[in-house]
Amino acid sequence: MLIACVLLAMLQPRLTLECPVEHQVFQRESKDKGRIGIRGRIDGAASAADSLEARFTGGKLAGNWKPLPFDPRVSAFATEMEAPAGGWYRFEIRLKKAGAVVSETAVQQMGVGELFIIAGQSNAANHAEALLKPASDRVVSCDGTAWRVAQDPQTGASGSGGSFIPPMGDILAERLGVPIGFFPVAVGATSVREWTPTGVTFSQPPTLTGNVRLAGTGQFESTGRLYRNLADRLERAGPAGVRAIVWHQGESDANQADPSRTLPGAEYRRLLEEIIRASWRDGGRETPWFVARASYHTPNDQKSDDIRSAQEAVGRSLALPGPDTDQLVGDFRDNKGQGVHFSAKGQKEHGKLWAETVGPWIARQTGDIWSIKRGPSVVTLTPDGKFRQHSMDRPRPPVVTPPEIGKAPSDAIVLFDGKDLSAWKQVNGKMPDDSALWKVADGIFVITPRTGSIQTRESFANCQIHLEYRSPSEIVGKGQGRGNSGLNLAGHPEIQVLDSYNNDTYPDGQAAAIYGNYPPLVNACRKPGEWNSYDIIYIAPRLDTRGKVVRKARYTVLHNGVLVHHDVEVPGSAVACPLVLQDHNNPIGYRNIWVRPVRDYDKP
Ligand code: MG
Repeated sequence: MLIACVLLAMLQPRLTLECPVEHQVFQRESKDKGRIGIRGRIDGAASAADSLEARFTGGKLAGNWKPLPFDPRVSAFATEMEAPAGGWYRFEIRLKKAGAVVSETAVQQMGVGELFIIAGQSNAANHAEALLKPASDRVVSCDGTAWRVAQDPQTGASGSGGSFIPPMGDILAERLGVPIGFFPVAVGATSVREWTPTGVTFSQPPTLTGNVRLAGTGQFESTGRLYRNLADRLERAGPAGVRAIVWHQGESDANQADPSRTLPGAEYRRLLEEIIRASWRDGGRETPWFVARASYHTPNDQKSDDIRSAQEAVGRSLALPGPDTDQLVGDFRDNKGQGVHFSAKGQKEHGKLWAETVGPWIARQTGDIWSIKRGPSVVTLTPDGKFRQHSMDRPRPPVVTPPEIGKAPSDAIVLFDGKDLSAWKQVNGKMPDDSALWKVADGIFVITPRTGSIQTRESFANCQIHLEYRSPSEIVGKGQGRGNSGLNLAGHPEIQVLDSYNNDTYPDGQAAAIYGNYPPLVNACRKPGEWNSYDIIYIAPRLDTRGKVVRKARYTVLHNGVLVHHDVEVPGSAVACPLVLQDHNNPIGYRNIWVRPVRDYDKP
């Protein structure tokens, strides 16, 4: 009896399924279906069976068995079968003999949806801040053999941190309504040079040379290890391959510490195109590539235009353009915005950018509807590119107490507050005591004619200047002789002080003119004896290393609160310069003079 049982067991064929496996996803070929690869073997006497059949169950499927090609003379089988796209389905397969099932097996969850290879370097691998996991159980990944829910770190890619794969997968699964599968193959810190197949040579080795070797005098080539991983996934993907290869890489080619390891953009393009062509050749089909713009290192090295241009060029030639992730700066990066890798927030945005790039493109091919449910896809950044619009992480502007009438704001350098002229000196002071000779009385000072002009002891570059002046109430003289003084930023033109109330003169010399350059836009003079104000913004010229002006100095001037010059260029190469008040032999009164620096944004 026992022997009979053993003999029967030996004669009984046993079915083993190698493909599909649990959680495996195949690329769909239309909105509703695709083909799956079916592969396995039959241990024991294959001849003890006469048919092989399979079916899908789950959801709304009818669950009808379909015959598969089967040759009882061989112990292995490999075939394909049409399968529905959508959710997870149970796949059952069985061997029969004369209508009776002799062996059967099943995969509990497999699906047909969208497949991607994720290649590149650290920000495509597992080097980001947070370990993420997909919200949807339909988002899976594969290390080349085993499939599992795509939680970080992703098997198949380098690193033990997080990735953008879970958020990208979640958006695609929700919007396309099919399982989303990933083959992560990215490896941190790798150059495009390391991803080329063997036989593609280049003259500049990358910074890290573990994956390259000498290939003749002055030439290098990749060992091909990384490329083989990518080609292997293309081969394993199944009957329809993968939807696309997602390429996020460039940092290890851009702006290297040793400039001889920086890859010129033209070379970047050539090598990436070599990789793409090789993948088409070896994969047997022109699998689409998406190429991101990625060159960011740190807040001080936010992009390489050369590498980005190359990525754009490939995205227009052989590939499709991926997202621009160099725009993800500030709190999208780890290490409090100082790191090269993405923060948890950056990973989510990175995944969203990819989903919003490939999703609509897929939907156009399948007839899916890619509606915009989640608002604008691209992050709106501030003009300097450093912050997301409305970010709460932006430094708060410093608090400044605004001036009471006749006083200075709290962060101003007060040059005259009614007490003394200690902030000033004679321009041509020849005496050891160079103190200003003009007289202070009753909170103002008045020019003592013919004592000479005075200037501030301190110099100022980009600054806001406020001053108040008064022409004598008693009208003396005419034209340039009536109430003439003026303010200079030394080395730049004078902003004229003159009594131009019913007093004609040449326009580029009247009150508030930038003397000899521009008349004021309007004449906003008050009557003689009344106080006038100037509010002046001076932007210093920009000089090159030889001191040549490459951008001229600029003035903006308000006269009694009325705009009289708007951001006009003025001659002069002095950058930081003292303020000069001109003695033009008329007793002009001055009060309330202060200056404050033009601040930078986000610098408390
Ligand atoms: Mg003058």
